[in-house]
Amino acid sequence: MSLVELKIEERKIGMLSFVEYIWLDGAKPTQNLRSKTRVLDFQNKRPVLSDLPVWSYDGSSTYQASGSFSDLILKPVHLTNDPIRGEGHYLVLCEVFSPDGSALETNNRAKLREEMQQSPSNEEAWMGFEQEYTLYDSEGKLPFRWPSKGEPPKQGPYYCSVGVDRAWGRNLVEAHAGACVMANLAFYGINAEVMPAQWEFQIGYRGISNESVDPLSISDHLWLARWMLMRIGEEMGISINWTCKPMEGDWNGAGLHTNFSTQAMRNTDSGWEAIGSLLNALSQNHDAHIAEYGAGLDKRLTGLHETCGISEFKAGEHDRGASIRIPAHVTKERCGYIEDRRPGANADPYRISTRILKTLHEIK
Ligand code: ADP
Ligand code: MN
Ligand code: MN
Ligand code: MN
Repeated sequence: MSLVELKIEERKIGMLSFVEYIWLDGAKPTQNLRSKTRVLDFQNKRPVLSDLPVWSYDGSSTYQASGSFSDLILKPVHLTNDPIRGEGHYLVLCEVFSPDGSALETNNRAKLREEMQQSPSNEEAWMGFEQEYTLYDSEGKLPFRWPSKGEPPKQGPYYCSVGVDRAWGRNLVEAHAGACVMANLAFYGINAEVMPAQWEFQIGYRGISNESVDPLSISDHLWLARWMLMRIGEEMGISINWTCKPMEGDWNGAGLHTNFSTQAMRNTDSGWEAIGSLLNALSQNHDAHIAEYGAGLDKRLTGLHETCGISEFKAGEHDRGASIRIPAHVTKERCGYIEDRRPGANADPYRISTRILKTLHEIK
């Protein structure tokens, strides 16, 4: 299905725009996306953030407030094109505040903003997330195209595969990739994963100059991309499963590998030393990181299926069974980035980013 076909209808509504306000609820242990729509008049001009009004919603219906004082405030923080409704329409990610102006406890973006205030100006942190996820049937019961009895042929042929017998659900994956690029997200690429109906997209640094790839921008991009995947899935009767070990047995889990670098790590002269001291700090904070890296991680970090056991910390040069992998070209050039392979597919990029920056900032 092309993106043009995906547009529900051509919205010829004069100068008015549809704006989808998107936010995170208070579900535990994993927050879910919520959104609602507002029609606004931008006089046919492209709006900037400050053109968007704050809005409110009923927090008692999102596990964020009790009945009597339930109004919560949506503050627009990241605006993009809406490739689904088409030109002149927008998506806006929002932070959630109480009416008294304080950030809600569930507002992890605010905590990341706070940590980033501790960043020296020459830190220049860059992020890149690899989001693995599993396509499911419309009721969320079974992975897409899995038989209702038994299992598909064992894993091996599916990773980076081509062909209708092994790459299951590419229509959705392609439509989503197109939508993310049209929404100006720092979309890096896609691949089919090891388990059938499991896929990956990456968002982050991609070598394009003048792009913001700081932890806050890239985390925002990831949440917007997740929303679009679920939204386009509606059109195709496919749901998205974000759990980190959807199928027990000899099936790979789903992670959110997190690639990270600072200016010092990327610099030829200081790179190897800066990478070494970050790895040392990460090794001393393993449990604190695991606590921020998603729900049900013990099911995925078993030491099998390209993971390191949950209670062990191992940094390895081009080792896919390590907690942290140092890519081969980084070892060779003695500068670059590291890959934290621990976060699960359902992890919150704001919480991952905050924890990595905290550990970085604690280095003496
Ligand atoms: P893998 O080999 O682990 O499957 P991918 O090719 O899927 O890796 O993804 C690479 C990721 O690394 C992307 O998210 C990209 O944005 C990120 N990345 C590349 N260079 C850097 C860098 N210098 N700093 C931070 N992230 C980076
Ligand atoms: Mn990858
Ligand atoms: Mn992968
Ligand atoms: Mn990876």
